[in-house]
Amino acid sequence: MSDPHPTSLNAADVERDELEVDVLIVGAGPSGLACAIDVARRFQAAGETERVILVLDKATEVGHHTLSGAVMNPKGISELFSDWRERGFPVQADVTGDSVALLRGGGRHKRLTGALVPPQFNNHGNCIVSLNQVVGWLQAQAEELGVEVYAGFPAAEVRYEGERVVGVVTRDSGIAKDGTQKPTFEAGMEVRAKVTVFAEGARGNLAKELFSRLGLYEGKNPQTFGTGCKEVWEVPAEIGGPLKGAVQHTAGYPLGSTGYGGGWIYGIDDTHVSLGFVVGLDHPDAALDPHALFVQWKQHSFLQEVLSDGKLLRYGAKTVPEGGYHSMPKLSGDGFCLIGDTAGFLNAATLKGIHLSIKSGMLAAEAIAPAVSSEDTGAASLARYTELFEASWAKDELYKVRTGGRPSLEGCSPGCSTRGSR
Ligand SMILES: Cc1cc2nc3c(=O)[nH]c(=O)nc-3n(C[C@H](O)[C@H](O)[C@H](O)COP(=O)(O)OP(=O)(O)OC[C@H]3O[C@@H](n4cnc5c(N)ncnc54)[C@H](O)[C@@H]3O)c2cc1C
Repeated sequence: MSDPHPTSLNAADVERDELEVDVLIVGAGPSGLACAIDVARRFQAAGETERVILVLDKATEVGHHTLSGAVMNPKGISELFSDWRERGFPVQADVTGDSVALLRGGGRHKRLTGALVPPQFNNHGNCIVSLNQVVGWLQAQAEELGVEVYAGFPAAEVRYEGERVVGVVTRDSGIAKDGTQKPTFEAGMEVRAKVTVFAEGARGNLAKELFSRLGLYEGKNPQTFGTGCKEVWEVPAEIGGPLKGAVQHTAGYPLGSTGYGGGWIYGIDDTHVSLGFVVGLDHPDAALDPHALFVQWKQHSFLQEVLSDGKLLRYGAKTVPEGGYHSMPKLSGDGFCLIGDTAGFLNAATLKGIHLSIKSGMLAAEAIAPAVSSEDTGAASLARYTELFEASWAKDELYKVRTGGRPSLEGCSPGCSTRGSR
C-alpha cells in the first residue's frame, strides 16, 4: 500500500536503474560546470582518462533555469580558461560606465556619476553577459573534455551510507499528488558516486536536507536571503544604443528606510536591456512582496524613459544568499562538497556570484581529483577544499562582506532614505 503522507518526492521500494560514476555534480550552473571542467582536466593530467564525471540538471535544457543578464567579474572565468575570450566565451558587452540613480517618489531622481559612484558599484573591467549563454558555453567546454551532462534529471534524494554521502536518486515521474503511482510511472535512477558535489544554487532541496542532517551550519550564522526579479526587454535603438555597456544602479524608491535592496539596468546591445530589482527578505514587513516592489520600481519615470516603448522578452526570479562569509556552511564532508550559491559564494554588496561560483568549483575540483585518485574521499581528505578556499582570493572577497556587507548610501543625498543598495 502506498504511503498516504509521502516524505519524499520518490516512491519507496521500486526497482531503479543504477549508475556508478566517479564524480557526480548536481546542478549545471556556473559552479557545477566549472567544477566538472576542472576535475576532468585534472584527471586527464593524471592520465586517468576512464574516470566518469556526470552533471545532472533539473532544467529540460541546461540554462533554462538560469536568469539572463548579469555583470560578470572576469576573475573566475579567466582562471578557468586563460584564453576565455579567444575561445569565444559569450560576452554581450564590456562595461563602458557606471552610475547610480537615487530614486525618489513623484518620479524624481538624482544621478551620481564618476567619483561619486560608491566603490561597490564600480564595474570597471567587468562585462555584461547572458548567464544562459554562459552556461551553454561552459557545458560545451565540459562535454569536449568528456563530461556527461544530463539535463531534465532533477536529483530528488541524497543517498547515504551511515553519514557518508554516496550519491543521489533522480526524481520519479508519474506520481499522483497522494503519492500513488500513475500508469505513466517511471522510477528515478540511482546514481552512486565516489564524490557528490552539490551545486544546486541558493536553497537547494538536497543541500537543505544535508545542512540539517549533518549539522553543516553548527557554529555559523544562519544564511540570509534576498529575492531578485530580472527581465530582458527589447527597446528602440535610439534608447538602447546609447545604453550599450552602461551599468546603471538605482537606490531609494520604492523601498523605505527599513528595506535593503535596489535595482539595476544594463545595456546589452543596441536594442536590448536587462533590468532587475532585488530585496533582502529579512525585512520587518513579513508580507513584503518583491515582485510588487519590482513592478512599482518599473513605473518610476527613470525606468519608464527606457521601457515605455519597449517589449518584455524574458523574465524570472531567483533567491540569492546574502549572509557573507560567516553564513557559509561547512563546505565538505564524507563523500561530498558544496559549491556556488549553495554554499553562499556570493558577494551581496555587489550582487556578484558568477566569478565566486566558478572559483568555488575550481577549488573543490583541486581537492576532489586527488581524493578520487587516491581512493580516499572521506571528510578529512575533502577538507582540503576548505583549506584551499581559506587561502584564496574568494575568501578575502567574502570576508570583506562577512556579515552580508550591506553598503550604505546614507548621506549621499539629503532625503535619500535607502539604508543599503546595490
Ligand atoms: C536577480 C539576480 C541577479 C544577479 N545578478 C548577478 C550579476 O549581475 N552578476 C553576478 O556575478 N551574479 C549575479 N547573480 C548571482 C549569480 O546568478 C549566482 O551567484 C550564480 O548563478 C550561482 O551559480 P551556481 O552554479 O551556484 O547556481 P545556479 O546558477 O543557481 O545554478 C544551479 C543549477 O542547479 C540546477 N538544480 C538545482 N537543484 C537541482 C536538483 N535538485 N537537481 C538537478 N539540478 C538542480 C538548476 O536548474 C541550475 O541550473 C544574480 C542573481 C540573481 C538572483
